[in-house]
Amino acid sequence: MSLLKIIKYGHPILREKALEIKSLGSREQDLIDSMIETMYANHGLGLAANQVGVLQRIFVLDVDQDREAEDEVATRAPRVFINPEITWESAEDEPFKEGCLSIPGVENEVFRPSQVKVSARDENFEPFEVEADELLARVIQHELDHLNGVLYVDRLSLLKRKLLGGKLNKIKSATMEELPSLPDSYPILIG
Ligand SMILES: [Zn+2]
Repeated sequence: MSLLKIIKYGHPILREKALEIKSLGSREQDLIDSMIETMYANHGLGLAANQVGVLQRIFVLDVDQDREAEDEVATRAPRVFINPEITWESAEDEPFKEGCLSIPGVENEVFRPSQVKVSARDENFEPFEVEADELLARVIQHELDHLNGVLYVDRLSLLKRKLLGGKLNKIKSATMEELPSLPDSYPILIG
């Protein structure tokens, strides 16, 4: 288990579609543990495998943690989604301000369906289904987008994206500078 480096906007792996997982081995178990640790260390509500340089259909999230609690660690309730699929979504969209660990310092209101049904496999590779609303529905959709190479900024209006352009370009330039040194940091890249 180790902390993983989060890949930032501009890196091509964030635009790749992650691949379905056929079975869970120790490498995937380690990856899941490390993703959970990395999510908490970065105060994220969720984290997708693309964001740590791995093209496998896994994301983790925790929308139940009480960050204000005296013993916030005790309130943690991480959930693992492997090969997730949205099987139903509500007709009505609602706005919510989203941020992304791969796009630091930027937040924007995104419209998405308010409720979704999802089928996936858990950390034991057991299938499960969940009906999600509110924050859980939001995070599931954001993370599932990552596995398909989609970022929330893609879902903004042209005008909003234009307004963000300068900030996004700055993050992208910093990522491009780091790029030559990245492969060494990702022994499980495209695993
Ligand atoms: Zn994100």
